[in-house]
Amino acid sequence: MRHKMKIVKGDITKLAVDAIVNAANTTLLGGGGVDGAIHRAAGPGLLAECRTLGGCRPGEAKITRGYDLPAKYVIHTVGPVWKGGNNREPETLASCYRKSLELAVKHGLKTVAFPAISTGVYGYPKEQACRIAVSETAAFLNAHPEIQEVTFVCFTDGDVSVYERVMGDLLQEQK
Ligand code: ADP
Repeated sequence: MRHKMKIVKGDITKLAVDAIVNAANTTLLGGGGVDGAIHRAAGPGLLAECRTLGGCRPGEAKITRGYDLPAKYVIHTVGPVWKGGNNREPETLASCYRKSLELAVKHGLKTVAFPAISTGVYGYPKEQACRIAVSETAAFLNAHPEIQEVTFVCFTDGDVSVYERVMGDLLQEQK
């Protein structure tokens, strides 16, 4: 499934995919980081729709339209706050990727872009988060051929190297 996973460096709000995923907080009413950037680029319609959703629990996902974004939809998911790793952080993070992709399938979407969920303010160690993102996505793609492409959007060159290395390792393990 490696050929369906792409790594790009840049700003997720610029991508013209079927859905971009937002690393939101439980209120779904906007915040800093990628969440703030998505709300700024989407315009006030996004916040208005988010107000109707009643928030979101960690590991769950909800979908809205994309408004002024080039992406058609935004899938809002809430990652775990890193508290040392023994508080179900890995399961919750894996659930974010799985539930987001399940919503994409449910809505007939074929191209999805993810930021590195929980690795900003929520403090999840980058490499560990990346391993979960890549392995959970690869497993999902194996089971759901209707998804055509998943893009991992990296904000820094360092993140690109981590994703490339982790994806290479995964490919090795599958040989
Ligand atoms: P969280 O609260 O889940 O940690 P953050 O928004 O703080 O969410 O960070 C998640 C990741 O998104 C970080 O790796 C951060 O560098 C990255 N990021 C921030 N802004 C953007 C953007 N516009 N496009 C893509 N990634 C972004």
